[in-house]
Amino acid sequence: MVSGDLFTSLVGAWGPYRAQHMALVAVEARPACRFKVHRDDLPAAFRTARQLSLEISVGHDTIESRSMEGRNRYSEWCSRRPLRPASRGSVYVYLSPRLPTVQRLRRLDEADDNAAFGAALGYPPCCTQSFAEGMIEPAFTRDPVLNRYEDERPISWYLNVSLVCFQLGLLAHFPCSPACEPSLGLAAELFKALYNISPSFATGLSLGLATWVLHTDWLGIAGFRCTGSGQTVSVQEVLAIDQDSDLARLLLPGVVIERGEKTIRIGEIEIPAGHARLFRFL
Ligand SMILES: [Zn+2]
Repeated sequence: MVSGDLFTSLVGAWGPYRAQHMALVAVEARPACRFKVHRDDLPAAFRTARQLSLEISVGHDTIESRSMEGRNRYSEWCSRRPLRPASRGSVYVYLSPRLPTVQRLRRLDEADDNAAFGAALGYPPCCTQSFAEGMIEPAFTRDPVLNRYEDERPISWYLNVSLVCFQLGLLAHFPCSPACEPSLGLAAELFKALYNISPSFATGLSLGLATWVLHTDWLGIAGFRCTGSGQTVSVQEVLAIDQDSDLARLLLPGVVIERGEKTIRIGEIEIPAGHARLFRFL
């Protein structure tokens, strides 16, 4: 049980995305979760775990993030370095109601056993397998969303994992495809559990995710409302964007985005289609 007041304090301390996933683990809607935490924040992480009656385990490595343009300094890709007593920086923490689970998660993660790690976090087997296979393909150097999602037809907002860099996302894994039934089922359960914890938070999240998204690997990512549909749309209101990015200077209200066969055109700029998608999440 996570009360509305406790959830509000979690959002204040950890931001909405981490608060949401910790709360979902606390109500056992998810078996476990993993976060990157600065070493200075470890005492706070232990306090939070106690408040939520969760067990916590701390990773043995220092985590170095690789941030990408236009993603709010957020990084989906991190690399590990051995932790030394004088090391500063961030480490992973693992949270679950059961101690053996957090200990096992840390071991699996540090052994790079992606398939078993994903399964222990409750991700669907099809997505875990697709992710584990992707790790050994040279194609994984590409953005996982660009690899897995086509944008010809609307996609359920449940599966919008483009806006995690803006702390918006229901799922913590990359679905194997925009039609992945197990991911849709899992997202529906997570949304129901989140709505029981905080109806206003859950409603806000659904509004933030049911948007148009321009997802690029060069310029960054943005969520916005549009007029028009199909091949040509006109930006109405930008909802999520990295204000320090070039994309923020390009994607202004009134700008027309056109999807061609080989390119996506934003105003006067053309991006090759392999490097950008224009998603409509409904
Ligand atoms: Zn799947």
